[in-house]
Amino acid sequence: MTTTTISDVNSLKRALIAVWGEERVRIEEPLARYCNWKVGGPADLLLVVRTADELIRAWRLARQHRQPVTVLGFGANVLISDRGIRGFVIVNRAERLAFHPRGLVEADSGTNLAVLAKQAALHEVSGLEFLIGIPGTVGAAVAVNAGTRTRWMSHVLERVRVIDAHGRERWLAPSDLAFAYRESRLKHTGDLVITAWLRGRPGRRDRIERRMAELLRERQHQPAGPSAGSVFKNPPGDFAGRLIEQCGLKGYRVGGAKISERHANFIVNTDRASAADIKSLIDRAKAAVAERFGIRLEEEIRYLGEWE
Ligand SMILES: Cc1cc2nc3c(=O)[nH]c(=O)nc-3n(C[C@H](O)[C@H](O)[C@H](O)COP(=O)(O)OP(=O)(O)OC[C@H]3O[C@@H](n4cnc5c(N)ncnc54)[C@H](O)[C@@H]3O)c2cc1C
Repeated sequence: MTTTTISDVNSLKRALIAVWGEERVRIEEPLARYCNWKVGGPADLLLVVRTADELIRAWRLARQHRQPVTVLGFGANVLISDRGIRGFVIVNRAERLAFHPRGLVEADSGTNLAVLAKQAALHEVSGLEFLIGIPGTVGAAVAVNAGTRTRWMSHVLERVRVIDAHGRERWLAPSDLAFAYRESRLKHTGDLVITAWLRGRPGRRDRIERRMAELLRERQHQPAGPSAGSVFKNPPGDFAGRLIEQCGLKGYRVGGAKISERHANFIVNTDRASAADIKSLIDRAKAAVAERFGIRLEEEIRYLGEWE
C-alpha cells in the first residue's frame, strides 16, 4: 500500500475544512484568548474540538499531513510566544463526564476540573475535591500531574486512554506514567490524553461541598489577574516564591508584566504584557535565585511556540 503524505499547512487546512467547515477552522487565529496569561501570537490553524472523537480525528489528520500539532486545554499552564505557534493548534473542549459505581469517574480530557469536582459532589463522590481550585482540563492535569500540596492527579488516576504520534490508541496505568511532582512521562512522549478514569469513593454531598468551599477560601489570597499560577516548581524543601521574594523581586516589572506582590511565584499580566515581558521576568527571577542561593529554579509552566 502506498500512502501519500502532503506536508504543507494548506493541505491540512483543506482537509480540516472538508470535515468541519470554514466556520470552525480558524486561520491565523490569535492565541491570547486561549490562554490564561492573555499573551501569544497566532496559530496557523486552530480548531476547537467538542468530543473525544473530534479530538482523535483532528490529531490524526494533522499527523497524516505531517503538521506539528499542539493541544491546549485552558492554557492555564503555558506561555505562548509572541510569534505564535506554527502548524495546528487543537483547543480541547471534549467534556463528556460519566459516573460509574463505587466512585469511578470517566472524564473526557477536555473536562473542566472545577466542573468535574462539582459534579462529583452532586454524585456523592469524594476524593476529587482538590480539583476545585485548579484552572484547567483533565488531560493536561494528568500530563503535568496537577495538584495541591497534598493531593495530586496521580493519587486519583485509575487509567488513561492516550493516542501517540502515530495515531495509535492505548490504555495506560499510573505505573506506566512515571509520575512525580508536576511530572509525568506524557510530558516527554507527547502522547495525548483522550479519556481518564479517576477513582473517588462514596461520600456525603454536604461534606464534599464544605471541603471544596474551604479549599476555595484558601485560594483567596492568590493574586488576581491573568497569570499561569505558580511559574516555578518548588525546589526540594523550599518554596520558589520565598526565594524570589528574598531576592527583592516582589513587584518587579517588565513592560506590562509584574512579579506579584502577593505571591512572588506568580507573574501577572497587569497591562497588555507581551510574552517577551513575562519571559524576561522569568529569566530575571531565575538568575537572581541562582546568584543569591545557588538554586536552579525549574519552570512549572511550559513554553509553546517559537522562541529564539
Ligand atoms: C490561578 C492559577 C492557579 C493554579 N493553581 C494550580 C495548582 O494549585 N496546582 C497545579 O498543579 N496547577 C495549578 N495551576 C496551573 C494549571 O491550572 C494546571 O497546570 C492545569 O493542569 C492546566 O490545565 P490546562 O488545561 O489549562 O493546560 P494547558 O495550559 O492548556 O496545557 C498544559 C500542557 O499540557 C498539554 N496538554 C493539554 N491537554 C493535553 C492532553 N489532553 N493530553 C496531553 N497533554 C495535554 C499542553 O500541550 C501543555 O503542554 C494554576 C494556574 C492558574 C492560572
